[in-house]
Amino acid sequence: MPRILIVEDEPAIAELVALNLRHSGYETQCVGSSADADTVVRTALPDLVVLDWMLPGESGVALARRWRAQARTRNLPIVMLTARSQESDLVQGLDAGADDYLGKPFSNAELLARIRAVLRRKAPESTDVAVQVGRLSLDPTTMRVTAEGQPVHVGPTEFRLLRFLLSHPERVHTRAQLLDRVWGDHVFIEERTVDVHIKRLREALAPAGCAAMIETVRGAGYRLARPAEVGASPASTASA
Ligand code: CA
Repeated sequence: MPRILIVEDEPAIAELVALNLRHSGYETQCVGSSADADTVVRTALPDLVVLDWMLPGESGVALARRWRAQARTRNLPIVMLTARSQESDLVQGLDAGADDYLGKPFSNAELLARIRAVLRRKAPESTDVAVQVGRLSLDPTTMRVTAEGQPVHVGPTEFRLLRFLLSHPERVHTRAQLLDRVWGDHVFIEERTVDVHIKRLREALAPAGCAAMIETVRGAGYRLARPAEVGASPASTASA
């Protein structure tokens, strides 16, 4: 379930946005200032931030600019909310790093459409698209993993880990990157945690003969290799 941070100092708007997003299946958290938003993001990266332009203290634009300047928050998806009177300054907002913007008042449907579009662009794994690599398939809508149609039983964390790896095959991911993208946090969780869940994931994939797809890249991290690189499976050579 994608987590959305709402940064808005007008409680009525914040509550309405949060309510609508929760009805659409998102997890939400509301804060009323840039300082509080920073605190939340430092603890765990949300999947997307709905950021009001005008905030008490540091403005939303300044906050977006600051996040864009830091490696950890550089790719944090941001949809900025603006008052109509500020539309002439929208270029400034987009320059600051907002992925999209929406003028107030906006409809719930408009906001949802923008959020979905930004999430699709930014993180394909956070949408509900099924992924398949080799014999392994993962369906986020049913939360099922299968190997040539046979169920593979994985825990919730291994599911999210496998989903991320299947969505980015062949790429090497460091432990810190995996913590950020799969756990949403690299500050309070030890990198060793990744190793524990990789081990569990391999154990879960072993009965299906797919454990070797999860490769350890010495001194770097982990990657999911396409089956051709780990030797063709007996099933796929037999059918070839
Ligand atoms: Ca405001």
